[in-house]
Amino acid sequence: MPPTHEVFNQPPALTGYDVADDPAMLAALRREGAGWAEDGVRELGRLAGSALTQELGRQANENPPRLRTHDRFGNRVDEVEFHPAWHELMTVAVRHGLHGAAWRDARPGAHVARAAGFYVWGAAEAGHCCPVSMTYAIVPALREAPALAGRFEPLLATPEYDFGLRPPETKRGLLAGMSMTEKQGGSDVRANTTRAVPAGSGEYLLTGHKWFTSAPMGDLFMVLAQAPGGLSCFLLPRVRPDGTRNGMRLQRLKDKLGNRSNASAEVEYDEALAWPVGEEGRGVRTIIEMVNMTRLDCVLGTATGMRTGVTMAAHHAAHRMAFGRKLADQPLMAAVLADLAIESEATTLAAFRLAGATDRAVRGDAQEAAFRRLALAATKYWVCKRAPAHAAEALECLGGNGYVEESGMPRLYREAPLASIWEGSGNVAALDALRALTRQPESAEAFFAELDLAAGADGRLDQAVTRLRKEVSDPSEARARQLAEAMALVLQGALLVRYGDPAVADAFAASRLADDGGPGTWGHVFGTLPSGADTAAIVGRATPRLTG
Ligand SMILES: Cc1cc2nc3c(=O)[nH]c(=O)nc-3n(C[C@H](O)[C@H](O)[C@H](O)COP(=O)(O)OP(=O)(O)OC[C@H]3O[C@@H](n4cnc5c(N)ncnc54)[C@H](O)[C@@H]3O)c2cc1C
Repeated sequence: MPPTHEVFNQPPALTGYDVADDPAMLAALRREGAGWAEDGVRELGRLAGSALTQELGRQANENPPRLRTHDRFGNRVDEVEFHPAWHELMTVAVRHGLHGAAWRDARPGAHVARAAGFYVWGAAEAGHCCPVSMTYAIVPALREAPALAGRFEPLLATPEYDFGLRPPETKRGLLAGMSMTEKQGGSDVRANTTRAVPAGSGEYLLTGHKWFTSAPMGDLFMVLAQAPGGLSCFLLPRVRPDGTRNGMRLQRLKDKLGNRSNASAEVEYDEALAWPVGEEGRGVRTIIEMVNMTRLDCVLGTATGMRTGVTMAAHHAAHRMAFGRKLADQPLMAAVLADLAIESEATTLAAFRLAGATDRAVRGDAQEAAFRRLALAATKYWVCKRAPAHAAEALECLGGNGYVEESGMPRLYREAPLASIWEGSGNVAALDALRALTRQPESAEAFFAELDLAAGADGRLDQAVTRLRKEVSDPSEARARQLAEAMALVLQGALLVRYGDPAVADAFAASRLADDGGPGTWGHVFGTLPSGADTAAIVGRATPRLTG
C-alpha cells in the first residue's frame, strides 16, 4: 500500500456502545415510574449500538421494500417484499414489546418503559418504527369496539413477529396501520370520500382510494370512511377471516425522501370488508385516540434522532484533530455541540414527561390527561420543527464525511422532516395546541399548573412564563406557531429547571428563555450560546463511551 493511503485522523467507528447510556433518558425513566425496566432498556441499548444492528439498519435502507402487485400468472397478490434485515429489526422490536404490549402490562410505568425501549431502539433504524408505532397506537381506538378489542388486542400485544398474508386470527402476532389521508385531503380528513356501505350483520364494505397508507403489509388497518351516519372509523383486515383476500389493492409504493426502509402505499379499497369502531359519524373522535399515541411517538422518535445526531457529532469531534487541537476542544465547535446537546436533552425530558402523562392518563388520571392534551400538541409542533435544523448541524460537525451516506448522517437528515408532517403537519399541530388552549380550559389549567411547579427556581423561566401568560390572551390563528413554540419552550425549561442537569438547564434558560435582547443573546442557528455556558460538561453528557 503506498504511504499516501495511510489512514489517520479519522475517528474510530461508532459501534459497540450502549445507546441507553443516556443520563437524561435514564433519569426520566426512573422519575416517570419505570425504573424497574432499566435492565431491559440497557440490553436493548447495547443491541442498538452494536455493529451488527447498525449493519441491519444500513441494509434495510439500501434495499428498500418492493411491491409485487401480481404473481407470474397475473393474479393480484398485493404483497410487499422486504430485505431480511427489515424482518430482523422488526423481530427485535416486537420481541421487546415496543408494539402493543404495554397495553396488557398492568405495571405502573409500562408505557414509560415502552417509550424508553422505543427511544433507544429507534437509534438502530427509524423506518421500521412506523409499523411498531401504529400497532402501539391502535389499541386505545380499538377499545371503542370492545368485541374487536377482545379478538385482536391479545395478538397486537404478543411478542411474536409473524409476517405474511393470513387471516388475522390464525397468526401468532399482528401489526396494524391506519388509512386516513386521501388525495384531496389529509389534514382535512372530513374531505374523505371513501364510502362505507352497510352489508348486514354489522359489517360494512368500503370503497375508495387512500393516498398514504404506511406499512401496508400490516394485518389490520384503522380506516376513515363516509358511512350513512357520517365520517366513521372502521377496522379493516388485509385478509378476511375466511382466508380470502380483502378488497385492498396496493397501487404503488411512494418514492419518499427518507424513511426508505418502510413502505408507504397508495391503496384502493374495493368493497373491502370492515367492522365499525365507535359510533357512526364520530370517526374523527375515535381515530384521534390512535393519532394521539402516534403523536407521542413523533416526539419520542424526534428525541431519538436528536440524541443520535449529537452523539455521532460529539464522537467525531472527540477524535478528529484540526488546527492542532481536537475539534471538541475548539471553543466554537464546543458551542455548537453543546447547543445541539441542550436541544436534545430538552426534547428527551419533554418526551418522557409526556410518556409519563400517557401512562397515568390511561390509568384514569384526569389531570394528567388534561395536561397531555395541550402539552403534546405544542411539543409535537415545536420539537419536530427543530429536527431538520438539528440534523443538518449535527451532520455538518462531521464536515464532508457527514455528507457521505456511509456516515449515517444523510439517513438521519432525510428522516428528520417526517415527524413534523405526519399526524398533524406543523400548522395543524400548532392550531391543535391553540384549540386545546382556548376550548379546553381544564387543559390550559393543567398546563400552567405544571409550570407553576417550577416557579421561583429560575428568574428567566419565571419571566418567560409571565410573557406566555400575556401572549395567550391573544390566541389568534395567525399566531398559533408563536404560541405553540412559547408553550413548548417554557415546558422544556420548567422540566430542565426541576430535573435536568444544572449546566444544561442554565444554558437552556440563558439561550431559549432569557429575553435580554443584548449582544449575548442566542442567535438563529445552533452554536450561538451566550457566554458562560459550561460546554465541556454539557458535551460530555452526549459523548458516547465505546465498550467494544
Ligand atoms: C412518509 C409518510 C407516511 C405517511 N403515512 C400515512 C399513513 O400511514 N396513513 C395516513 O393516513 N396518512 C399518512 N401520511 C399522510 C400524512 O399524515 C399527511 O400527509 C399529513 O397529514 C398532511 O396532509 P396532506 O398531505 O393532505 O397535506 P394538506 O392537508 O394539504 O396540508 C398541506 C399544508 O397545509 C397546512 N395546512 C393544512 N390545513 C391548514 C390550516 N387550516 N391552516 C394553515 N395551514 C394548514 C399543513 O400544515 C401543510 O403544511 C403519511 C405521510 C408521509 C409523508
